[in-house]
Amino acid sequence: MAMSLRVAHLYPKMMNIYGDRGNILCLVRRCQRRGIEVEVVDLGLGEPLISSRYDLFFMGGAQDQEQLQVAEDLVQTKGQALRQEVEGGCVLLAVCGAYQLMGRYYRPAEGDELPGVGLFDAWTEYPEAASRRLIGNVVAEWQDSTLVGFENHGGRTYLGRRAKPLARVLTGHGNNGADRWEGAVYRGAFGTYLHGSILPKNPRFADHLIAMALQRRHGEVELEPLDDIVEHRAHKAALRRGARRGFLWRGNR
Ligand code: GLN
Repeated sequence: MAMSLRVAHLYPKMMNIYGDRGNILCLVRRCQRRGIEVEVVDLGLGEPLISSRYDLFFMGGAQDQEQLQVAEDLVQTKGQALRQEVEGGCVLLAVCGAYQLMGRYYRPAEGDELPGVGLFDAWTEYPEAASRRLIGNVVAEWQDSTLVGFENHGGRTYLGRRAKPLARVLTGHGNNGADRWEGAVYRGAFGTYLHGSILPKNPRFADHLIAMALQRRHGEVELEPLDDIVEHRAHKAALRRGARRGFLWRGNR
């Protein structure tokens, strides 16, 4: 029986800054090129999240205003199901503003603190409105490889004891510009500040998520390698850009 991947795209219209929906396009293409059927369901405000219906959840970034609009719906109508799905082996990728809302809370520059889903033992605080935003290209160490992307966030994210970081920053700021960590991981859930979109330029990370998501219903899968010459060329170009600035920890500047 042909394998299939069922993807839920959370708040696709409201949480799509920097074209993070490019991650959905990448997931679909990398599956289709392997003959894996893919279904993508958009889940917006007020739309219930049906348990055991999906293998992978994706939510992109946005500015404080959009985060404010989705936070209550996310936490009240989807939060508990998301935590259960991740405990049940689902994969989740949350980028920037979405990553912040998957933690314990997000305290924006202005306004009240937004309670988070509590999927990651992490919290985010935007020091004050005038504070420097953490912007620029990022190169980070992930497993025995690298992740490249672009960050633009004012919020600083800190990890608690139960959260593992996704990657170690070589160039850029990462979670908070102080502890050299980028992102967070909990079981199959991945939070990251990397826009870009992150997946097209990091094909190994994209396949890592796809294989993990397929495993839930299809058991252990060995994805056939793809001809990723263009993806690797884009990744190497980002690495060269990082090297030009020196793989120096820039967070303290
Ligand atoms: N509003 C959040 C911040 O500035 C997230 C921004 C984003 O998703 N790029 O930290």
